[in-house]
Amino acid sequence: MRQIAFSLAAVFALAGCATSNTPYPRPVTTTIAPALSNVPNIYTSAPRAPLHSELFACNSYGSNLGLIGSRGEETNYTPYIDTPAGPLLRNPTEIACLSSGFGYRNIGGSGRQHSGADLANHDGGWIYAAADGWIVSADYRSGYGNYIEIDHGHGVRTRYGHMAEFDSNLRSGVRVTAGEAIGRMGMTGNATGVHLHYEVVVDGLLVDPINYGAPQPFVTTPVTQTYQAPIPIAPPPVIAPVTPIAAPIDAAPVEAPLQSYPDPVHLTRPDGQR
Ligand SMILES: [Zn+2]
Repeated sequence: MRQIAFSLAAVFALAGCATSNTPYPRPVTTTIAPALSNVPNIYTSAPRAPLHSELFACNSYGSNLGLIGSRGEETNYTPYIDTPAGPLLRNPTEIACLSSGFGYRNIGGSGRQHSGADLANHDGGWIYAAADGWIVSADYRSGYGNYIEIDHGHGVRTRYGHMAEFDSNLRSGVRVTAGEAIGRMGMTGNATGVHLHYEVVVDGLLVDPINYGAPQPFVTTPVTQTYQAPIPIAPPPVIAPVTPIAAPIDAAPVEAPLQSYPDPVHLTRPDGQR
C-alpha cells in the first residue's frame, strides 16, 4: 500500500514537472568560510556605526534627492530600513550627506538608472555593515571599485561600492555583525568624488535605500470622488396671496313684511244655520 502511495506521488511529481518547463533558479547558497584567524588591523578596534537620526542632502542640485525639508533634511529619512530581514542602517557611514538618490537620473543629457543611494563625505570615513549577515563578495569590480556584498537572509542584501579599501579579513562566508566597520569610504571604480554607493536588494530587486520601508509622510489626498449632482427639487408653487375678504357682516335682518290676511269670510247658509 505504501509502495502504491509512493508510486502515485512519483507520478504526480513527474506530471507536475511535465506541465511546466520553467526552470527554477538554483537557490543561492553562501558557503561558510572556514574559521580564519583574524589578522588584527585597523578594523579590529574601529568604532561601531553611529545611529544617524537625520540625513541631509549635500546640496539641492543633486538628482533624485527626494523630499527635502527647509533645513536641507531628507524628510522621509528614518535611521533604519524596515526589511523582511529586520532593520538595516539607512546610512551605514561614519558621517555623510546624500549626494544622489535612487532612480532614473539625467546627467549631461544621458539618462540612466541609479541603482542605489550616494552617501558622500570628501573626508572619507568608516563604512559599516548595515545589519548582521554573511559576506557574499569582497572584491574589486569595474564600476563599483572596491565592493562588498552582504547577505542578511530573508532575501535581503546590501552592497557597498567605491570604497577606498575594505577589511582584508572579509571574504565570502565571513560573518559580520550589525554596525561593524567593513571598509573606508573612497572613490574607486566609476566615481567622481569620495562617496559610498549603497544598494539594498530585497528579493532580487534593487530598492530605494532612502525611501524603502520608511513611513510615508502624511499627505492630504485631494478628493477625486465625484458625487452625483443633487436632484433639483421643484420649488413649491407660489400661491398668490389671497385677497382678504371682508368678513361678512350680517346685514340687518330684513323684517318680513307683515302679511295681512283678509278676514275670513263667514258664509252664511241660506237656512241660517252655521
Ligand atoms: Zn551611486
